[in-house]
Amino acid sequence: MATRLDGRQLAAQIEQRLQAVVAERLARAGRPPGLAVLRVGDDPASGVYVANKEKACTRIGITNLGAHLSADTPAAEVLTTIQRLNADPAVDGILLQLPLPKGLDERPLLAAIDPEKDADGLHTLNLGRLLKGEPGPRSCTPAGVMALLAAAGVELSGKRAVVVGRSILVGQPMALMLQAADATVSIAHSRTADLAQLTRQADVLVVAAGRPRMVGAEHVKPGAVVVDVGIHRLAPDPAAGPEAKARLCGDVRFEEVEPIAQAITPVPGGVGPMTVTLLLVNTVASWCQRCGLDQPLADLLP
Ligand code: NAP
Repeated sequence: MATRLDGRQLAAQIEQRLQAVVAERLARAGRPPGLAVLRVGDDPASGVYVANKEKACTRIGITNLGAHLSADTPAAEVLTTIQRLNADPAVDGILLQLPLPKGLDERPLLAAIDPEKDADGLHTLNLGRLLKGEPGPRSCTPAGVMALLAAAGVELSGKRAVVVGRSILVGQPMALMLQAADATVSIAHSRTADLAQLTRQADVLVVAAGRPRMVGAEHVKPGAVVVDVGIHRLAPDPAAGPEAKARLCGDVRFEEVEPIAQAITPVPGGVGPMTVTLLLVNTVASWCQRCGLDQPLADLLP
């Protein structure tokens, strides 16, 4: 049976470390770190995500400097808000919560975020820094995966890694991070011929296809490390009665892969909690840099 890579536990450990980093440097910095989560409109799922992020900020001593604009806010006003946050010295990280209401183009707004305050690590400049191996904020989900692999002692140097998915959010930065750790990396996508033949070569298989339960035992080499980035909400099990809650699943058929893998991330409780934690890591790292302090978090920013 595979070892479960427990994202909740690791996220809690990293939060404790962040608490200590903030507490030890607060007097020298002269102010706490600040994160601004900018929400536009009332998408209910976003409301839950933003609340989780704000709670996590409070736990580790980050001031929440976010703003909530109504769904009919014109693009120019959202832009002005981003510019105000860029100029505010108390703000170390800015996150524009997606999706935006219909009619608002996210691209110019994301591009307007000061790259040094890019808590999501997805600004073009920061993706370029990742490509060039330069320090900077890192994309949260793939950096969270790297932290999980490192904490589990998974050796990457010289290993064969396959990433399923080539999005800018997950697949592409994931492949760059694995490559920077000296793995030999292949990227699969929707046009890849014979996916299983490719994924069976992987010592480390990261699945970020956004397809519920797509990857099964036939895709996995026995003894591989399998990371499931996918997250999907399934309708409640009708057999469980009227009180049954919606179930979550990933891109991997966990029950098939767990018996043959060396290690595997569960859904929920694997990659998901790490994504929020890396947002905090980017923010605290930015605070250290902007306050002229040492950088104690470089190992979490691959
Ligand atoms: P996305 O933008 O939809 O990208 C999906 C990628 O998978 C695309 O590159 C696509 O190929 C590829 N793909 C789709 N079907 C495939 C197939 N049958 N075989 C091989 N490749 C296939 O999704 P994303 O934003 O990267 O997110 C992926 C999943 O991760 C989603 O379930 C999302 O909810 C989840 N996610 C979770 C977290 C977390 O914190 N846990 C964070 C971010 C995302 P093409 O490029 O050819 O279309």
